[in-house]
Amino acid sequence: MNLRRRISIILLAVVFFSGTLIAILATESSSNAFDEYISESYQVMLEEWGQIFASYYVRNDYQWQGVERLFVVELQSGVILSDLSGQILYHYDRSYIGEHIPMHLYRRGYPLYLDGKTIGILYPAALFSETIIGLEKSFLQTTLLAVIKGTIFTSCFITIIALGLSVTITSPLKDLTRATKRMAKGKFDEPLPVYSNDEIGDLARSFNTMAQELEKGIELRKQMTADISHELRTPLTVLANKLELSLEQNKPLTTEDTVILYDEVIRLRGLVNELQDMSKLEAGHLPIEKTLIDFKQYFEEFFFLLEAEAESRQMTLKISLEENLPSCYADPKRLKQIVLNLVNNAFRYTPDGGLVQIKATHDADNFVLEVSDTGIGMAAEDLPYIFERFYRTDRSRDRETGGSGLGLAITKALVEAHDGVITVESELEKGSRFIVKLPLWQEK
Ligand code: ADP
Repeated sequence: MNLRRRISIILLAVVFFSGTLIAILATESSSNAFDEYISESYQVMLEEWGQIFASYYVRNDYQWQGVERLFVVELQSGVILSDLSGQILYHYDRSYIGEHIPMHLYRRGYPLYLDGKTIGILYPAALFSETIIGLEKSFLQTTLLAVIKGTIFTSCFITIIALGLSVTITSPLKDLTRATKRMAKGKFDEPLPVYSNDEIGDLARSFNTMAQELEKGIELRKQMTADISHELRTPLTVLANKLELSLEQNKPLTTEDTVILYDEVIRLRGLVNELQDMSKLEAGHLPIEKTLIDFKQYFEEFFFLLEAEAESRQMTLKISLEENLPSCYADPKRLKQIVLNLVNNAFRYTPDGGLVQIKATHDADNFVLEVSDTGIGMAAEDLPYIFERFYRTDRSRDRETGGSGLGLAITKALVEAHDGVITVESELEKGSRFIVKLPLWQEK
């Protein structure tokens, strides 16, 4: 059964049951009100008769025997008396004596007390009169009719409201189902209409945001696949061409060719390693095991590698480590990857003879590592994108730099896996400065 029908049926059932309940309660309370009205009108008479019967009872040795013969002219037909079991003791029409008061009237009698004890029950004779019974009946019928009419009217009204309400609720849900089906087919072009500012509106809005994110993710994946194949194609083409030529001409590879092929293979291996790191980082599968590192001692272990590279390109490599440098709280293997990525980029994008500086300091909360160069720099419009996967500035594409465009994305992910931040300042033709901040170790 669909939601619209279910809402309508539930509301109708509620109306039906509450209508029936109102009818019962209204009949009951009208009947009581009617009784009260009758008893109030006969109050004085009942009190007078009460006294007459009570004094008879006392005079007659606390017995009712012979009470049916009691004769009081002016009150002759006003009252009926029964004992506690409802058997009629006194009636203006003597043929009823000894009979039982009908059940529905019995509970409407008035107890007659003597010294705190109930000695009998009084009924205004009017209660038994056909006119009064008829009157009550018609009074109750009118009330019941009014309640029934009210219930029918409310049911119609509620049915209309229920239909309206169910349309309001189910239409957006139908839209949502349609949009989900479109999405499953890869179509993201139609956002869900937002009709209201309530929970349903919120649902539509968050669905649209989710759709946008998903679309972005899919686009990114497509872009990444295209980028990866592009990056792989270049070294593979060089390899294929060189090998094809050697086979066609039946000539062994020269040492020079072998060096070129080796370089390309190394490049491919680097790219595959970077891709693997990237996917592990994204899936949160790259373990980060932080320890306290004495940076000076640690840095000496691979400093000579950087120095050799600088020397071969007549570049100046300056290291400045702050005095009283606190320990760096990081994963040693990953920290090395961060430093090498940044320093290698500095070398790669700085012309021979330039200057590369590595600086380690600290502030109140962080270990601060800076890598700056006097290289080609970057345009302001490139800066927001350089940490994205495969992003390379046009200028670096022109150059034979050999980079894949993954280095900074990996560096940023590694820094963030350490709860740190990486920022960059750069100016074209002047150089760049990358600043990494890693939180200092805190005693818990
Ligand atoms: P790549 O492997 O191409 O170097 P990265 O992710 O390491 O990829 O860097 C992304 C891009 O950022 C580079 O292609 C280059 O355009 C720019 N870049 C990175 N470091 C520097 C730098 N020190 N100086 C100038 N440009 C840089």
